[in-house]
Amino acid sequence: MPNASAPAALVVDDQETVRAQIAFALRSLGVSRVLEAADGAEALAILGNTPPDEAILVVVDLQMPGMDGIELMRRLAENAGRVTVVLVSGAEPRVLRAAAQLSREYGLQLGGCFAKPVSASQLRPLVDRMRSGEMDGGVRAESEVEDLARALRAGEIVPYYQPVIDLATGAVAGVEALARWHHPERGVILPKDFIALSEQSGLITRLTEVMMTRALVDLAALEAAGHGLRVAINLSARGVDRPDLPDAVEARTRVVGIDPDRVTFEITETQLTANPLAFLEVVSRLRLKGFRLSIDDFGTGQSTLEQLRRLPFTELKVDATFMRGALDDPLSKAILESCVDVARRLELHVVAEGIETEDCLTLARDLGCDQGQGYHISRPLPVDALRAWLDARRSPSSGQTACA
Ligand code: C2E
Ligand code: CA
Ligand code: CA
Repeated sequence: MPNASAPAALVVDDQETVRAQIAFALRSLGVSRVLEAADGAEALAILGNTPPDEAILVVVDLQMPGMDGIELMRRLAENAGRVTVVLVSGAEPRVLRAAAQLSREYGLQLGGCFAKPVSASQLRPLVDRMRSGEMDGGVRAESEVEDLARALRAGEIVPYYQPVIDLATGAVAGVEALARWHHPERGVILPKDFIALSEQSGLITRLTEVMMTRALVDLAALEAAGHGLRVAINLSARGVDRPDLPDAVEARTRVVGIDPDRVTFEITETQLTANPLAFLEVVSRLRLKGFRLSIDDFGTGQSTLEQLRRLPFTELKVDATFMRGALDDPLSKAILESCVDVARRLELHVVAEGIETEDCLTLARDLGCDQGQGYHISRPLPVDALRAWLDARRSPSSGQTACA
């Protein structure tokens, strides 16, 4: 339901000056009612007195004495009000990223994550989206889920493909399938705006199926056009709750004549370490059937070398943030180096994500990454554009190496 009225906000921070500064910024953006709380307990008490149907932006400091931001998120998720959470923290970016992940796992609507100090210009897009009703809180309007279900039935959700190249030779090694929603009114919608909703609503199983089927069909068509590629498909833990999935995928590859060895399933490191045995069982059976397995966003989770050694993975994808940071931040570079080192010990392939410049590409190669992916090589492309890109890259006049 669109929220036509001006939004309200609650600023939760133990430091009075920070609270006042954020509250001032929100008022300057036209937020009608700005409430303040010094910790989580006070915030819950205030929210308990606001009308349950009021959409409210809750700006949460992670570190507070008493009930901290993490516990507050859990409690907010339990009391499903129409809350959009914005996380702020003075802690290192990794902490913010972990908290953001947690908020998504709790099923909360996350408006954004900011390092302190937060400015009015950072908050403006959120306030605008709340005002337009685009973000109206943790309880999703039923119509939004219905729209997604309709989109899946209508074939509006399609894979775009981002090429992955072999860094030593420049040859195209494969593509990653990334979901895009071609909405009839809203245009192209990115995964950040519908994957969480798919997971919360249970539609992710259907979405995974749609992505997989389309990707296999496209792969077979590209092969017929002379482009033999591998494809990587992203899996959410909640989309793999079917023990029959490995058999179903195997049957589908057989129908289109694609060898399972050419299909990689990507699972994020955080899902791996947080996840139940049933999930690992499905993943292990996929590997037994010859599919490849990749640990996505590596470096953002908590996995130990020992855990990794026990998992049947074939590839490790270093999180893009380290790649982007490695050029001027020694810590990111050290993390990148240690990721490559871990991969080498475990005899895994290393893919560097987020290659945005020639310097990034050179660095990834120098550090010993096997493959690379990023805007500098190509943005994710619809299948027709991918085919044209592959054709151009293969033509002798382009001077590029032919794809594998
Ligand atoms: P991911 O798997 O880590 O995918 C890489 C993301 O980085 C993609 O965002 C891609 O467009 C973006 N990217 C690629 N190169 C660059 C670069 O050089 N710079 C920058 N800044 N970004 C780059 P996208 O397509 O928006 O997807 C976001 C996330 O949504 C994916 O992250 C993945 O976790 C999830 N996702 C996408 N498609 C699916 C899907 O079919 N199923 C599931 N479960 N998750 C999906
Ligand atoms: Ca991925
Ligand atoms: Ca990734």
